[in-house]
Amino acid sequence: MAAVEAASVDKVGLELQAILGDRVSRSQSVRDHHGKDESWHHPIAPDIVVFPHSTEEVAAIVKICAEHGTPVIPFGAGTSLEGHVIADRGGVCIDLMQMDQVLAVNAEDLDCRVQPGVTRKQLNSYLRDMGLFFPIDPGANASIGGMTATRASGTNAVRYGTMRENVLALTVVLSDGRIIKTSRRARKSAAGYDLTRLFVGSEGTLGVITEITLRLYGIPESITSAVVSFPDLKSAVDSVISTIQMGIPIARIELLDKLQVQACNSYSGLGLAEQPTLFLEFHGTTAGAEEQAKLVGEISGEFGGSDFQWTGQLEERNKLWEARHNAAYAAQSLRPGCQLWATDVCVPISRLADCIMETQADLEGSYLQAPLVGHVGDGNFHLTLLIDPEKPEELEEANRINDRLVMRALAMEGTCTGEHGIGSGKMKFLQAEHGDAVAAMRTLKLAFDPQNIMNPGKIISL
Ligand SMILES: Cc1cc2nc3c(=O)[nH]c(=O)nc-3n(C[C@H](O)[C@H](O)[C@H](O)COP(=O)(O)OP(=O)(O)OC[C@H]3O[C@@H](n4cnc5c(N)ncnc54)[C@H](O)[C@@H]3O)c2cc1C
Repeated sequence: MAAVEAASVDKVGLELQAILGDRVSRSQSVRDHHGKDESWHHPIAPDIVVFPHSTEEVAAIVKICAEHGTPVIPFGAGTSLEGHVIADRGGVCIDLMQMDQVLAVNAEDLDCRVQPGVTRKQLNSYLRDMGLFFPIDPGANASIGGMTATRASGTNAVRYGTMRENVLALTVVLSDGRIIKTSRRARKSAAGYDLTRLFVGSEGTLGVITEITLRLYGIPESITSAVVSFPDLKSAVDSVISTIQMGIPIARIELLDKLQVQACNSYSGLGLAEQPTLFLEFHGTTAGAEEQAKLVGEISGEFGGSDFQWTGQLEERNKLWEARHNAAYAAQSLRPGCQLWATDVCVPISRLADCIMETQADLEGSYLQAPLVGHVGDGNFHLTLLIDPEKPEELEEANRINDRLVMRALAMEGTCTGEHGIGSGKMKFLQAEHGDAVAAMRTLKLAFDPQNIMNPGKIISL
């Protein structure tokens, strides 16, 4: 599909202005801001950016775009990492961040309904006084719409699942402007095709999500965090595998390699031993959380873990997790001015040690720095390759490392991405991972979006 012609852009712009007034922008700075994510991927600005306030406005916008065959790119907080929001065919970017209302909280049913521009931090502030929380926690303060669209997860997924498990229903504007609801508030339903799961992870390629019904949880009586360091990476990973295989209901279990610990020490002032380290968290009753912490302390001791320190103090816990959430920026500070090529894979837990050790051996042969962190309780880990994208040789080297990482994970029955998604950056791996199923995905894409206007050039190549 070619980029949109200037005359058509002008026409679409005027029609959008008629319904949205000054919530339509063609200014260069606004467009530039909406043509990039937080990764190294080369930005490409959309032609027009719009800021709707309601599902009906989104429907009217999409209808106009459909009539002109103009690409539509939904946009949340812009924190994705695989070139998800790049407008490589121009078009209209729908910024959903002004749709930021919590519409309903049903405390007795442990669910809520929100607009897509609500961020995860905003939602948790809103819920705190009710004794409730929403656990999905990508490091960034992403929007709930973007998290739904990327099937995000994060540090808590080992206990609470990903967006896949925690979205109950959606309101979606389809590519012709029709509005549908995918499900109701019931915890279970066996009624028809599961469209909710189809749209979770669809990355804006099937429709625009305008309302999300989420599962909520009671804030646990006790939350305890711990840190433990290991003599080498393998011991740390083996201790994780053992913890998971014993069925301990751990809430967070995060691995940082030595380089990442060095980065966090200097960026977040942690003062940890510069060794492979696990950050952990336990949720439950006071006695339950303490018992979990003691058990995991014993397991890590068996694998050479030393100096197992745990705390229930809010301030200390916050410092630890703040440092974990800033791990990518800490990594970036190892090479000032660099950009991040953040890649993630996920493997069955029994293959995690092999996958991480082979990856580490591979990195030893490279001149690029690449700290390793991971939500390892799920078998999911990330490399943050620190690159200068203006240097083609560094891009090529990062590309080769990424290719080998993905192929290694696939050979171990894993996936090319546990949580960041496909965007444009990982499209080339979809066939290797899914084989003939990609043709079925293409059929679905065309059924929902026959003109290929919804975030074209992402996930599926047509
Ligand atoms: C420092 C850092 C750490 C991160 N850690 C994690 C992590 O631990 N786990 C994880 O899963 N991710 C992580 N990410 C990636 C990112 O935060 C997630 O992918 C997040 O879900 C993106 O949300 P967003 O609001 O920024 O979406 P955007 O980047 O704005 O959009 C992402 C995609 O969703 C689509 N989209 C957005 N809103 C809608 C909507 N309402 N309807 C339809 N489509 C829509 C867009 O078109 C795009 O394809 C991290 C990113 C950074 C920068």
